Amino acid sequence: LSPELQALQSTLQEQGVKYAMASFVDIHGMCKGKVVPMSHFDRMMQGSELFTGAALDGVPQEINDDEVGTMPDPDSVTVLPWNSEIAWFASDLHLVGEPFEACSRTILKRVLKQAADMGYRFNLGIETEFFIFKETESGFSPVSDRDTLPKAAYALPTVLDNYKIIDRIVSAMNDLGWDVYSFDHEDAQGQFETDFTYCDGLKMADRLTFFRFMVKELAREEGYFASFMPKPFANQTGSGAHYNMSLADPETGKNLFEDPLDTCGLSKLGYQFIAGVLKHAKAIVSVTCPTVNSYKRLVRKGSMSGFTWAPVYVCYGNNNRTNMLRIPLGGGRVECRAADISTNLYLGAAMILAAGLEGIREGLDPGAPHTENMYDYSLEELKEMGVETLPKTLGDAIASFAADPLSKEVMGPLMYQTYIDFKTQEWEEYHCHISDWEIQRYLKFF
Ligand code: GLU
Ligand code: MG
Ligand code: MG
Repeated sequence: LSPELQALQSTLQEQGVKYAMASFVDIHGMCKGKVVPMSHFDRMMQGSELFTGAALDGVPQEINDDEVGTMPDPDSVTVLPWNSEIAWFASDLHLVGEPFEACSRTILKRVLKQAADMGYRFNLGIETEFFIFKETESGFSPVSDRDTLPKAAYALPTVLDNYKIIDRIVSAMNDLGWDVYSFDHEDAQGQFETDFTYCDGLKMADRLTFFRFMVKELAREEGYFASFMPKPFANQTGSGAHYNMSLADPETGKNLFEDPLDTCGLSKLGYQFIAGVLKHAKAIVSVTCPTVNSYKRLVRKGSMSGFTWAPVYVCYGNNNRTNMLRIPLGGGRVECRAADISTNLYLGAAMILAAGLEGIREGLDPGAPHTENMYDYSLEELKEMGVETLPKTLGDAIASFAADPLSKEVMGPLMYQTYIDFKTQEWEEYHCHISDWEIQRYLKFF
C-alpha cells in the first residue's frame, strides 16, 4: 500500500471508522457495493471486491462471465454523516485488471480527459429537487399538512414543518464540505431543493450519487421516505436536476464562459458549447431524463401553479425558464433544464460535455437567444422558427439516442447497446401496461 493510502487508513481508523464501502453505480446511478472491515482496507483499495454483473441492472454480463471488481478512488472518501463507523468510496469498475468498458464513472472520466486535452476543466453544479413523503394507509402524503397549493413554491411554513429532516440533510452536506448556499420549498407539495457550490464534474457526479443515497437514509431515520422520482403528481411540478455548467482554465481556474461585454454575460466558447448541446439534445435527454416517468415532467401544462418550469423544446435563451438551456442572470454558465433527478449523473454529464466539446471543436453557432416565453408558441410557429420538440416519451428518446453517433462515441459500444436494450425493455413494459386512465376513458365509452 502506498504511503498516502496507509496514512488514509490510519486516519480513518483513528477517527473510529470500522468499515469501508467499495461503492459503484448500476445503470440507474444507484449505489451498489460491498462493505469491508478496515483490517482488509488495503486489499479493497487494490481491487479485491468482486461482483457478478448479471445480478445488476445494466452491467452487461452473463452469469458465467468473470466478475467485475471495484477500484475505489481514495479522493472520494466520505464518512457517512449518519454513521461515523463507515467510510464510503466511489469506485471504477474493472474486469480482470482492465477498466470495464461499461462503467459509468469510467465513461465520464474519459470525456473529462478529452476536455482536459483541449485545455478545459468541466465545472458542474446540480440543483437537487426531490420529495420527502410520509407513508400513509392509502399510499403517501407530504410531511406537512399545511396546504400550500396551488402556489407551493418558496413556502416558508412548510420548510419549518420539515425543519428536522431538512436541517439534517443540509447539515450533513455542510459537514462534508459541500457548501450549501440555500434551500427552499419547491413548487410541488413536499418538494424541496438544496443548492450547493459547484465543483469539477467527476466530484459532482460522486456527490450527487452519494446525495441520493444519503437523503434516502436520513429520511428513513426520521420516519419518512425521500423520492427522486421525477414526476409523482400529474398536476404538480416535477423534480429537475438542472446542470449548471462552465469550462475553466485548469491552471488558473479562470471561468472561460464569462464575458462581461456580452448581453447575457456568456463568452463565444459558451455559445459554441450551447450549440453542441442543442445539436445532440434529443440523445442527451434520453440519458438526463432516463425513465418512463421523466417524460411526464417535460410538458408545459400539468401544474396547478400554472407552469411546470420544465422545458419542452430544443432551444436556448437568456435568464428565462421556458428554454431547455438558459444563461442565468450574470452569465458565465449554462444551465440545462432538460435533466431530472433520476439521472445517472456520470452518464448524463458525459453526454452533455461531449456534445458541448463538439460544439467548440466545430465552432458551432446557436443563433440568437430566445428571450420570449417559449410556452406561448404554437407548434406551427415553432416549426417556422426551426425549433424542434424534445422527445415526448422514453421510446422516442431511446430512438434518438440510438440514431445519434455521439451516443456510441461517448458510451463505448458495450454501454451504448446495453443502454438501448435496457431502456427499450423498460419502455416496452410500460407501453404494454393498460393504465387506469385508459380503462376510465374507453372501457364503457366504446
Ligand atoms: N421543478 C422544475 C423542473 O422540473 C424547476 C423549477 C425551477 O426552476 O427551480 O425543472
Ligand atoms: Mg428549483
Ligand atoms: Mg435552475
